[in-house]
Amino acid sequence: MIKEVICFDCLDLDKTLARLDMPPLESVSNYDKYLETYIGVYDDDLFETLYKHEIDKIDWKNYEDNNYASVNVELKCSQCKTSILFGSRFIKKANINEFITQVFSLIGDKLSRYIEFCSRCELIKDFLVYNSILESETGRSVTVPGQSIEEFLTKFYVPKGYINNLLPHLACENCESILSEEDNGDQELRIYNYKDIDEYLKVDLEELTQYADSYGINIKKVEVTNFSKFLQENAMLGFKHSVGLQLFELFEMIYRNNEFISLENINLYRGRVRKTGTKQFLGSEMWNPPIGVSSHGRYNLVGSSVLYLTDNIQYIPYELNYKSSEVLDIATFHINKPIKILDLSSMYGEFGRILSTSPNSSNVLKLEYLLTNYIAECCRYIGFNGIKYNGVKKGEYKNYALLSYDKDIDICINDIKTYSAEIKYLLSDFISDKEE
Ligand SMILES: [Zn+2]
Ligand SMILES: [Zn+2]
Repeated sequence: MIKEVICFDCLDLDKTLARLDMPPLESVSNYDKYLETYIGVYDDDLFETLYKHEIDKIDWKNYEDNNYASVNVELKCSQCKTSILFGSRFIKKANINEFITQVFSLIGDKLSRYIEFCSRCELIKDFLVYNSILESETGRSVTVPGQSIEEFLTKFYVPKGYINNLLPHLACENCESILSEEDNGDQELRIYNYKDIDEYLKVDLEELTQYADSYGINIKKVEVTNFSKFLQENAMLGFKHSVGLQLFELFEMIYRNNEFISLENINLYRGRVRKTGTKQFLGSEMWNPPIGVSSHGRYNLVGSSVLYLTDNIQYIPYELNYKSSEVLDIATFHINKPIKILDLSSMYGEFGRILSTSPNSSNVLKLEYLLTNYIAECCRYIGFNGIKYNGVKKGEYKNYALLSYDKDIDICINDIKTYSAEIKYLLSDFISDKEE
């Protein structure tokens, strides 16, 4: 015997369902076999039961005619007290929790399709690092906040009280992580969509084809579109793409033909700036930052650590954006054992340029970032210990990005010296007499 019932309105999900193009709760429960079992109908049988129940309550000894009319066979929602009309459906109150769980698993499935990316996605992590690089290198603020889970659910009119019921049923479409599952080191989990990262996913194809051309590789634009998209989605799998494969084969050929430089018994330098009056950096602090801490760099894949060195100490202040309130600690690294270096500073003309120029448009940076990451991974894999490339400033110096080496065996620090540097402004070309 059904004692207590709840009406569909009481769940307050009409707007959410409509927003998700789902039929109203009453019809949803008609189609789902689990939901069906928690549903009752106010039919003849129920009417008779209720009727009998009410009749039984009548005190027949003191029965008077007009009492009969007051027999109450109205079925009311035990929450909002609205009458359930004869012939309508309702939720059995005893099953309300199971019913809600099942409804939210259906809604969760639908809602998850709108969670295109989350802050746990590798792509999003890369994207956020990329934005911080862009910010620090261009000074332009690029904040893409995404939305919190609450904000996201509010857009779908999910009543606040249901958030915890719904969470276990929400998963990211891209990385498939369940939003309710705790993830260590998680800051507040945020949701992103394609629109948020649209700009990031676009690459200036014109440039890439030009660079490829300049070293004899003919890549069709369609392929490039495809490749850049592919790289953005999975930087580690670039070699599975035909364009990526061609680049990989080129570097492999260079390696097999011994067309690399072997560096041995020379000194290279790395500088770090610090505030005047603070302690000199220790040797251990002059190596590349440990994995996971490295902020950014031309050949840095997020998470992998690269040691950046230069062969001319004079250019360190320029490359470090040295300020006059600072001093420079410069470590001399000695290369003890021969290491194999891919020389991109002379070999590939224009192609080398993109690997070394300072980014002045977001497109260059984006392309550069993706390509250099890919190239660095290829080189590391093939067996190169590092890459030689041109510095940002004009002048007689080269930079090295060391990708793999045995610390203190292949390379060691000879000494660390502290310098101050002077910033000079020179008058260069004469431009004009007087402008009016
Ligand atoms: Zn109700
Ligand atoms: Zn995700």
